[in-house]
Amino acid sequence: MPQVYKNYINGQWVDAQSGQTFEDINPANTEEVLGLFPRSTEKDVASAVEAARASFDSWRKVPAPKRAEIMFRAAEKLVQRKEELAQLMTREMGKVLKEARGDVQEAIDMTYYIAGEGRRMFGETTPSELPNKFAMSIRMPVGVVAAITPWNFPLAIPSWKLVPALVCGNTVVFKPAEDTPLMATRFVEILIEAGLPKGVLNLVHGFGEEAGAALVTHPGVDLVSFTGSSEVGREVALKCAESYKRVSLEMGGKNAIIVMDDANLDLAVEGAIWGAFGTTGQRCTAASRLIVHKKVLQEFTDRFVAQVKKLKLGNGLDPNTDVGPVINEQQLKRIHRYTQIAREEGIQILTGGEIYKEGECAKGYFYLPTVFAEVKPQSRIAQEEIFGPCPAIIPAESLEEAIDIVNNSKYGLSSAIYTQDINKAFVAIRDIYTGITYVNSSTIGAEVHLPFGGTKQTGNGHREGGHVLDVFTEWKTVYIDYSGKLQKAQIDV
Ligand code: NAD
Repeated sequence: MPQVYKNYINGQWVDAQSGQTFEDINPANTEEVLGLFPRSTEKDVASAVEAARASFDSWRKVPAPKRAEIMFRAAEKLVQRKEELAQLMTREMGKVLKEARGDVQEAIDMTYYIAGEGRRMFGETTPSELPNKFAMSIRMPVGVVAAITPWNFPLAIPSWKLVPALVCGNTVVFKPAEDTPLMATRFVEILIEAGLPKGVLNLVHGFGEEAGAALVTHPGVDLVSFTGSSEVGREVALKCAESYKRVSLEMGGKNAIIVMDDANLDLAVEGAIWGAFGTTGQRCTAASRLIVHKKVLQEFTDRFVAQVKKLKLGNGLDPNTDVGPVINEQQLKRIHRYTQIAREEGIQILTGGEIYKEGECAKGYFYLPTVFAEVKPQSRIAQEEIFGPCPAIIPAESLEEAIDIVNNSKYGLSSAIYTQDINKAFVAIRDIYTGITYVNSSTIGAEVHLPFGGTKQTGNGHREGGHVLDVFTEWKTVYIDYSGKLQKAQIDV
């Protein structure tokens, strides 16, 4: 019988009020059930929001450096438990062990970094236009934060939201992805052990349409911080608009690598493999479009496909595995549907294109690493986020055409260019309209202290990582008049 896990509300581990649960399954071996988790509904959400509301006033008054000390302790616990958490993450989510270690490391980096902000959280002072008057702006917490996260970075993404929200003085209700509830539970346990008072952080497991939707519409929530698909993000934003909630959205991507005719092809092939097949293509920054200059198209394609054929598919716990499973059956079918669309559109499939059920992969959700070639920029394969191990190679005649192709997307998260020409690199930096651009490096590999987010349907103008304090605080402008008389701005000139 698998272990039964609980929600964490107002300092207590509790079942869903309905008593219902759902299974947490290993995508590499669906016979392994990692646990049963509460299938929460709006009643559980209401209790969690109530607890977060009740604790907000005392938490916001705890000095930020003291709030941050709890985070430093949490970071230390993450360091101590890195290997155990990484192994568990591979079992729960499927990514290969070295990437799972990277996911834990990202949470460690973020937690230390934002803990440091507890002693900064700078405001601004500026001269007043009037004599004997002082002007400054300071940050204040927003209130109760709903943090809704996806499954593809089960520890890193929760850390991007929970840690800054808490250091800034907000209280939190956390609704993690239904595919990775165990990593979320471990993270919450660590934050509690580090010393968070009761009610400050609440965990509610469950499905998006039930627990997630109830959280977004709850009047006691002040800010929704959401990472997930653009379709769901749009729904979240519409619901938030109705009740004037603050909302920060990190959503889908269709990221591109440009390979110019002067590129170091060894580097470009290596970067494209890492970008397209890392995390089985299930990163929001995954390279799903490879836009290759016609002069090097054949050579790049041959070398790339030769490398793809060598990738070993399997359980991520095996150190020889390069590519793990995809997250669930629905996603497996969705990826395969795109292969069928490619076939119908006459797109070449140079390798892969099949669900894989051989040997040790028989019990999991495995898809053969796939390469689509001669893809037209307008085709569905080049436009829609597939979120799987199946990049599209798109030929281009020039830098200008390549940049147009990159920008011809409803998304705008990450991009990359491989070139040895500094002039071309700077033109790309200037003209590509994405939140992140890499030069001579792949589309993935964001560092936590720089702004992270995207343009167009990838986001709604916010940035996490380096600019995350702007998400979790409101500015307050303060004027202090010590002249002893009524001074009138714009009138007393
Ligand atoms: P998803 O949109 O299906 O789910 C994300 C979260 O939202 C989950 O916790 C889910 O339970 C919840 N949810 C679903 N429906 C909801 C509703 N109606 N109301 C409230 N919450 C709801 O996304 P996913 O499949 O978990 O993740 C993959 C997607 O996330 C991809 O599109 C990927 O690009 C995106 N992503 C973006 C970033 C980024 O930073 N831009 C990072 C990682 C993943």
